[in-house]
Amino acid sequence: MSLIVQKFGGTSVRDAERIFNVADIVTSKYKEGNDVVVVVSAQGDTTDDFIEKAAEINKSPSKREMDMLLSAGEQISASLLAMAIEKLGFPVVSLLGWQAGFHTTSSYGNARIKRLDGSRIRKELDKKNIVVVTGFQGVNKYDDMTTLGRGGSDTSAVAIAASMHADLCQIYTDVDGVYTADPRKISGAVKLDSISYDEMLELATLGAQVLHNRSVEMAKKYNIELEVLSSLTRKKGTIVKEEKNMEKMLISGVAKDENIARISVIGVPDKPGLAFKIFSKVSAKGINIDIILQSIGRNGTKDISFTVEKSKMQETIDILKEYTEKLGATGLVADDEVAKVSIVGAGMETNPGVASAMFECLYGNNVNIQMISTSEIKISVLISKTDSDRAVAAIHDKFFPVNGRD
Ligand code: ADP
Ligand code: ASP
Ligand code: MG
Repeated sequence: MSLIVQKFGGTSVRDAERIFNVADIVTSKYKEGNDVVVVVSAQGDTTDDFIEKAAEINKSPSKREMDMLLSAGEQISASLLAMAIEKLGFPVVSLLGWQAGFHTTSSYGNARIKRLDGSRIRKELDKKNIVVVTGFQGVNKYDDMTTLGRGGSDTSAVAIAASMHADLCQIYTDVDGVYTADPRKISGAVKLDSISYDEMLELATLGAQVLHNRSVEMAKKYNIELEVLSSLTRKKGTIVKEEKNMEKMLISGVAKDENIARISVIGVPDKPGLAFKIFSKVSAKGINIDIILQSIGRNGTKDISFTVEKSKMQETIDILKEYTEKLGATGLVADDEVAKVSIVGAGMETNPGVASAMFECLYGNNVNIQMISTSEIKISVLISKTDSDRAVAAIHDKFFPVNGRD
């Protein structure tokens, strides 16, 4: 007998028919004699619809009330799935995040799991119940509902798998695995049989939403193998795992992130301490900075550019507006019509020429690069949003040529 954790995303529980499809998958594992814990997301676009509903009432509601609202979506799908499993004649119980023991930090909207007390889940499994748990949510030290950030149900599932030492953790979604690019946008995208934690973590962080990046981070930390697969096709999926001994793929994927904005402080006096002053102001407000570019000083001044999450652009401008003058800088420019396009691959560490191949491809497609950032296993460029789909397609074609595949 094994303990199996299965997570189903929004499209997998979209309507009654899909919910019965999930109930079938879950109960077939149960029938084999396994303990099964199921984590569900909100149905279809429920979370987005809730966000719109909230905006009709209040354009800047408190984060606490937003979490009260958003956590309701998962409650609906958990109870509906439990009813479907009941209807098929199996013992089942649904639990909210707090009932399942998810204790989180207090940061509403982006809470982190501090501790998972699995005793209630264990008790229910011992009673031979299938346990359905709401993803994406927990409770903080004030006994208030919190949510884990968009896409966070994957992280809920991995947390259960890690803390309860599950034998299998399956992430069911609407595509049948992890591809070399978003298969909905790039027709030539290729499904990967497996991918390393590090590469998956980069891809997820750089915009491939197929897994919540924190779920991959946690899976790596606790060495939990994940299988990403479709709830509809029931084909073998992609395994996310440690790949120490394998020949490293040169490039494992291309990702795009449009949730980004560029801010430039222009004409900053070319003397020590200015970058520190600018970035400490921004980070003091909890705003994350991504790519940074500083020009060489000329005629006593330089420009400092950086990127932030799109939703933080206005706040960053407000923080720096007055301050720019105080620093003696001449201007502040922001642009949210940008996108970050990245390639990820463990093999690039040992293979020269990957960056130049990527840049040549962008040049060949007349795409201007605004900023560049690299790490051992990724190269990212910031480009105009209007060029981004073309850039992803061209880069994907370059590294995964249709005729060059084996
Ligand atoms: P779920 O609701 O099941 O959590 P998501 O919408 O969060 O599903 O994630 C699945 C989606 O991720 C797919 O529909 C696909 O469009 C997108 N995606 C982006 N990049 C990739 C990739 N490299 N491989 C597979 N899917 C990807
Ligand atoms: N329902 C949440 C969201 O849409 C969590 C998730 O789907 O994982 O972000
Ligand atoms: Mg998701």
